Amino acid sequence: MNQHFDLVIIGGGCAGLSLAYQLSQFGENCPKTLIIEERELYTNDRTWCFWDLKEPIHGDLAPYKWKKFTIKNNHMAFEYGCQETPYLMLPSDIFYKNTLSAIKSNTQIQLLTGEKIVDKVIKKGAWQIQTSTFLASASNVVDTRPIKTMTKKDSLMWQSFVGYEVEVEGQQFIEDQLVLMDFDSNFKEGLAFIYCLPTSNSKALIEYTVFSEELFVAEQLTDRLLEKINEYTKNAGYKIIRKEAGILPMGNQLIEQKEDPTYLFAGLFAGAARPSSGYAFQRIQNWAKECAFELKNKHQLKKFKKDAWIQKWMDLLFITVIKKNPTIGAKVFVELFKNCDVRTVANFMSDHSSPWDKLKIVTSLPALTFLSAIPELIRSKRRLDGSH
Ligand SMILES: Cc1cc2nc3c(=O)[nH]c(=O)nc-3n(C[C@H](O)[C@H](O)[C@H](O)COP(=O)(O)OP(=O)(O)OC[C@H]3O[C@@H](n4cnc5c(N)ncnc54)[C@H](O)[C@@H]3O)c2cc1C
Repeated sequence: MNQHFDLVIIGGGCAGLSLAYQLSQFGENCPKTLIIEERELYTNDRTWCFWDLKEPIHGDLAPYKWKKFTIKNNHMAFEYGCQETPYLMLPSDIFYKNTLSAIKSNTQIQLLTGEKIVDKVIKKGAWQIQTSTFLASASNVVDTRPIKTMTKKDSLMWQSFVGYEVEVEGQQFIEDQLVLMDFDSNFKEGLAFIYCLPTSNSKALIEYTVFSEELFVAEQLTDRLLEKINEYTKNAGYKIIRKEAGILPMGNQLIEQKEDPTYLFAGLFAGAARPSSGYAFQRIQNWAKECAFELKNKHQLKKFKKDAWIQKWMDLLFITVIKKNPTIGAKVFVELFKNCDVRTVANFMSDHSSPWDKLKIVTSLPALTFLSAIPELIRSKRRLDGSH
């Protein structure tokens, strides 16, 4: 190949494709871009959920929408309406199809799948990117490769989960009844809950999620998931249509950026994951839009926006409380939704909260529990900043 590009994007997953999609919208003014992606094929490998607030990017693609949800704890169920801020679910195959089609229609962008970076990316005048079959050079690089070997110490907490999309013969699910959190008090090594997203009366995505200091691979959570699927399907038997799993950081030390501003690390481990939830989809979309704009107009890359200090402290305090005492986590979530309106909580979870929203969140949480976590929080903050 031996071509020169304005931009090479390493990794065409959520962050890489989102950036390329935004660039594709500039038509012939789009910088000459190459995406190098390891996978051969795009499949429905994950599901992105987010609240419908302030016209979320790609929200119009989401085929599933819930206007009410339930939180369950200790055999009690609390139901909440979210008509004004519905909860959306976007299967990744729809996102990939839409972004790939926009990218392919712009001749300034090339996507190479089944290609892997084999060497260190070095700068010799321009960045040199070597795969097993070709060498390309670039003025700018956005590197979205995830950390392959995650260890416990890379994040204050982790969100590990495994989910199966299942189909039953009868009508075991209630299509408009989303279960956001159904806490499992039998799990002692973290805060565990079931998340059940019914896509029809006979199909649902059911996930077993754990917030904890340890990382759990899918196999470690599968038995618990199967037990809960039996409960949710009332032992009537079911067919597994699809599986997904993940381990997301909650409060990770961000990948250290290079001094050279023409090389940017982006994606889940570079600031996309929200510490208190691990979720990243809308944060990636907002970054991609800003970064594309900056690249086209100012010929420079844009890092992920740093979280405002107050939000960061609130997230860390929340993580610290759950880490210290996972069993109290269920109570914290129940109190949060009981004492605050859904929009306030959704705003907070989606980086849209006003100072008033933040105040409402703080005052709705058990004060003593949170105050007693402050010394631990300071230690965690130091660890995150790498100060010891
Ligand atoms: C199953 C699952 C469900 C999730 N659900 C939600 C959700 O509901 N809401 C939410 O906000 N967030 C969710 N997330 C978190 C987050 O939004 C996703 O992880 C998102 O895909 C992160 O985007 P990314 O680009 O950083 O990583 P990825 O999407 O994983 O992209 C990285 C890409 O780099 C490629 N790659 C790796 N190594 C190389 C190499 N050497 N050369 C070339 N390419 C390479 C990979 O093949 C991959 O395509 C979920 C994550 C998972 C795993």
